[in-house]
Amino acid sequence: MKSKVAVVRCKEYDFEEVKKTMQESLKLIGGLGNIVRKGNKVLLKPNIAGPFPPEQGATTHPSVIKAMIQLVKEAGGIPVVGDGPGTILPAFEISGIIKVADEEGIEVIPFNKNGFEMVKIPMGEQLKEIYFSKDVLKKDIVISIPKLKTHALVYYTGAIKNMFGAILPDSRKKTHRIDDVELFSKALVDIFTIRKPDLAIMDGIVGMEGVGPTHGPVKKIGVIISSTDSVAIDAVSSSVIGYDPMDIPTIRNAYMRKLGAGRLEQIEILGEQIKEVRIDFKRVPILKGRDKRRFMRLALGHLIVDTNKCKKCKICVEHCPSEAIRLIPYPTIDQKICVYCYCCFELCPEGAVIFDEKSMLGKSS
Ligand code: SF4
Ligand code: SF4
Repeated sequence: MKSKVAVVRCKEYDFEEVKKTMQESLKLIGGLGNIVRKGNKVLLKPNIAGPFPPEQGATTHPSVIKAMIQLVKEAGGIPVVGDGPGTILPAFEISGIIKVADEEGIEVIPFNKNGFEMVKIPMGEQLKEIYFSKDVLKKDIVISIPKLKTHALVYYTGAIKNMFGAILPDSRKKTHRIDDVELFSKALVDIFTIRKPDLAIMDGIVGMEGVGPTHGPVKKIGVIISSTDSVAIDAVSSSVIGYDPMDIPTIRNAYMRKLGAGRLEQIEILGEQIKEVRIDFKRVPILKGRDKRRFMRLALGHLIVDTNKCKKCKICVEHCPSEAIRLIPYPTIDQKICVYCYCCFELCPEGAVIFDEKSMLGKSS
């Protein structure tokens, strides 16, 4: 049987419109009542990439979270919102999630609060065990609510990659040291297998193009996409922004491991068809071959720090997995040690980590 993915248009973040669209989308794939039962403890896992306001387009919009909270309550479930962003408390506050959770009287859980436990990954191709959030493991239902964006390293970030936020920050750092995009993507899929979400609902109303996932230009896409198959929702969402899903290493690897429908012909698309909503979107160019990072280092240019924007907060220093950044007095990246994980680029709250002028990424299409 084909996986179902529903694509429904939604023009803006007006709360009533968002909720109505999400209801419609969920109805097309069989209704939330088939997923959430009365009394279920439900974890909503948005993508809170860092301390960025909703209008930056880097984080799941609070209207989408609020609508999902209400829909889960109406289905009889008991929702909480949880994530493990790099810079935890300011991120929840600034992204607007705390405000909507307070309005709805529900808890927001930073995953470090209740801790992590070591779990085996029997199907792991790159990782055999990892520290994983107890909050995610203990919930009856997990709903992933990613944001439709590009990603400098793995091209596209969606429902599969969203579960990377469920591991211990130190494990995230360690995983980022994997100096090969294909192997890193396999690790992301390994993590995804630990607790595949029961439902994924994509905030594709306003996404991020160019060099995402946190400082690219925002782009109106105008869709809410939902599916119980996280691989299928990634296949459809990446196609809406113009990628071939088989070019995205996480989707390709998950498809090859039969974790979901990665090819469009395996998917029944309900509501709008891809060609009706596909938009002109600036994408991170696909680089074939295994050693993308080395290629980037040699041919595309380096990451540097714009000292006019830098506030010397040290977030980049603290999160660099290879200890390649020194404050002297501004952050300086040792290009010989850098493994091009893009954590500094992604997490810098000021957008001060940039590509030098030689970078092709600035001209991504
Ligand atoms: S580059 Fe960004 S993250 Fe690093 S110290 Fe400066 S402001 Fe902070
Ligand atoms: S300098 Fe930046 S891109 Fe390089 S390894 Fe450190 S965090 Fe990653």
